[in-house]
Amino acid sequence: MHIIGRVSGNERRLLDLMRLQGPVSIGMASESTGLSRPTVTDLVNGLRKRGVAVSVEPHRPDGRATGRPPQRFALNPRLGVAVGVEFERDHIRAAVGDLSLTVVGERLRSFPVADDFDAAMDVAAGLVEELLASAGADRSRVVGAVLSVPAPVDRVEGTVHATTILPRWMGRRPAEALRQRLDVAVEVDNDASLGAIAETELGAARGRRHVVYVKVSTGVGCGLVLDGRPFHGATGTAGELAHVVVDEHGPVCYCGNRGCLHTYVDAEAITEGLRLTPHGERLFRAARYTPDERLAMVIQWAERGDPACERVIRDAAHRLGIALANVCNLLNPECVVLGGTLSKAGDLVLGPLRAATHGHTVPLAPGVVDVLVGRWQERAEVHGALALVLRGATERFRDRLYELAGAS
Ligand SMILES: [Zn+2]
Repeated sequence: MHIIGRVSGNERRLLDLMRLQGPVSIGMASESTGLSRPTVTDLVNGLRKRGVAVSVEPHRPDGRATGRPPQRFALNPRLGVAVGVEFERDHIRAAVGDLSLTVVGERLRSFPVADDFDAAMDVAAGLVEELLASAGADRSRVVGAVLSVPAPVDRVEGTVHATTILPRWMGRRPAEALRQRLDVAVEVDNDASLGAIAETELGAARGRRHVVYVKVSTGVGCGLVLDGRPFHGATGTAGELAHVVVDEHGPVCYCGNRGCLHTYVDAEAITEGLRLTPHGERLFRAARYTPDERLAMVIQWAERGDPACERVIRDAAHRLGIALANVCNLLNPECVVLGGTLSKAGDLVLGPLRAATHGHTVPLAPGVVDVLVGRWQERAEVHGALALVLRGATERFRDRLYELAGAS
């Protein structure tokens, strides 16, 4: 049973500030909460004594004291832990982070996730238990867990919508299933939405308020942060970039349309273009590799100067850039961030992606949109999940943090 601790209303305001902003100074805290500086100082001293907050030393690159930079305070990283779990077709990745959002343990396990929902949940619960044990934290220290699934999610019911990657998961409730196994608060979100949060909170788009994140791996996903908040649309399916039609005479898609974007630019489509080249033998022999593994191989060969591999990456970047230009014209973001396996191609993909995006975006003041490669690649989902535990709007996670602070 959880101990229901007592934290005052003003302490809660400081906890919220630290949770959402990381380290803050007394002056900043006073300004944002409307409390006087002496009141904030007293509150912070109280929280520090109880081990809820810690002082954060100002950074002095030369090691010498020149004046007195304002001292800052932050949540004690060890007050609790956040859990992130990513489900993909063929693997589960789990991470545990402290309250500074630093990963303290991470595990990746190959598993046929698409085949058996319940078995995948058992494996995920086992991974989280292992990570908590090695981090020296038991379940009572968990603020919350966020799960990433490569499918649209009904955010009210917590159910998974139709998806080609995990067809047997349709209508299932992964957050509820893991909550039953672990007895901690759990939420579920779409993988690209979590990627967008990871890059905005902790990555390439840090400090930006209008961000389009596109993930190209097995499938194409798109996550949106608009006006500083994740945008999911009316029913949670916003960002279905995969089925934007780029050629009405193109190949038939499972959705019933022709020429959907993902039939040209996901890992399967990019590598399929090499089937008839000498690379086809190695890529497709005995179905040994997943589409993501094949794409990673193609990127490596392209980096070594293979012209056919360079060509398929360039073509995919061009198609993707045109689709993203349409998104930019519609939403006017500050930046577009590429994630997923394709982002491993770095400058090789970035050049043609930028050219196509800029070439098809309306050139309005004050300038063109930034097109960037993401920081996290295939680890974006777990980092986004950890960030969402602390920085999301979920009341259960917030209340759990108050409880941990009150029990200290
Ligand atoms: Zn389609």
